[in-house]
Amino acid sequence: MKKRIGLLYGGKSAEHEVSLSTARAVTGALNFEEYEVYPIFITLEGEWRRGERLQKPASTIEELQFGDDATILENNITNFLIDKDGKSVQFDVIFPLLHGTNGEDGTVQGLLEVLNLPYVGNGVLASATGMDKVVMKQLFEIAGLPQVPYTYFIRSEWANEQEAILARCEEKLEWPLFVKPANLGSSVGINKATNREELVKAIEIALQYDRKIVIEQGIVAREIELAVLGNDFPEVSVPGEIKPVTEFYDYDSKYKDGSTALIIPAELPTETVSSLQELAKRSFKAIDGSGLVRADFFVTADNSIYINEVNTMPGFTPVSMYPLLWQHTNVSYPELINRLITLAIERFEEKQ
Ligand code: ATP
Ligand code: MG
Ligand code: MG
Ligand code: MG
Repeated sequence: MKKRIGLLYGGKSAEHEVSLSTARAVTGALNFEEYEVYPIFITLEGEWRRGERLQKPASTIEELQFGDDATILENNITNFLIDKDGKSVQFDVIFPLLHGTNGEDGTVQGLLEVLNLPYVGNGVLASATGMDKVVMKQLFEIAGLPQVPYTYFIRSEWANEQEAILARCEEKLEWPLFVKPANLGSSVGINKATNREELVKAIEIALQYDRKIVIEQGIVAREIELAVLGNDFPEVSVPGEIKPVTEFYDYDSKYKDGSTALIIPAELPTETVSSLQELAKRSFKAIDGSGLVRADFFVTADNSIYINEVNTMPGFTPVSMYPLLWQHTNVSYPELINRLITLAIERFEEKQ
């Protein structure tokens, strides 16, 4: 019997567009002989809409946003479980292709838990942890993973203790600094600051995105990423290197310019590769990951390694780092998708 899969994409997030491209690519890789594919689109406003079962891969992202005349199931989030004629749809698995807020952060995972539906990727805790750069760093610290010095604060503290926060940054960290909203991805809201004036500006930008802000010591290093796949016994891919042509790997270089070079496998000494693979596994375990994560590292000229972050729902188009890392580790894009679906079902069954 065909597996009924719900592709969940879009979302009330700065990474809405990215999610749509991913969804289109995934419909292109799923075997329609094996799966019944139902598109579930979350609008930028956060409204849930389910389209008709797809008969073939989506050829445009517009098609996945359902024009005015499509079947639209709205008002109630759980309506995505109900068909036009009122019958309920029994999904075998939901594949959340959502990035950022309300998608990658444990909220949607919580909803799917409550609905008792198997879903691809990380659970509530790992997703929430991976989304909050501060909590993630704290867990990495406990797990003994090397990382750059950092500090953080929340919006209300900024309002009252601006001077103290700036002084703390200057004392604890060395310029340049990276200012980041704690709960985002795709480099949205991230800026580099080389002096106090730029720091204030960067903080004010970051505060437009989040109430919690992380400030990190900048590091001169190569950016190396590894893909982790599995549940209790995860596998790790070869490492890949990112070479942005811009000053850092910002939003435009990720999604617009196409100018960033991805070098897979990254050229690194064998021992460094082994250390990276070991650290990637430990980072996955540190957040209690399941399904997948992309672990991002900095590697300095003397091959010292620092973990930057893990991403619990990394970019997932066929030209994104995560799938490419697996492709170079002998797991094709369609195979990767099948593996993730199998892992989701296994995890669900184990829990029952
Ligand atoms: P994504 O989830 O898309 O990987 P993100 O929004 O979570 O990105 P980070 O990976 O933390 O953001 O940072 C984005 C980019 O900024 C990095 O890939 C790197 O180029 C640069 N960067 C971040 N932190 C530092 C740092 N401490 N030192 C030097 N460069 C940094
Ligand atoms: Mg990230
Ligand atoms: Mg991200
Ligand atoms: Mg990153």
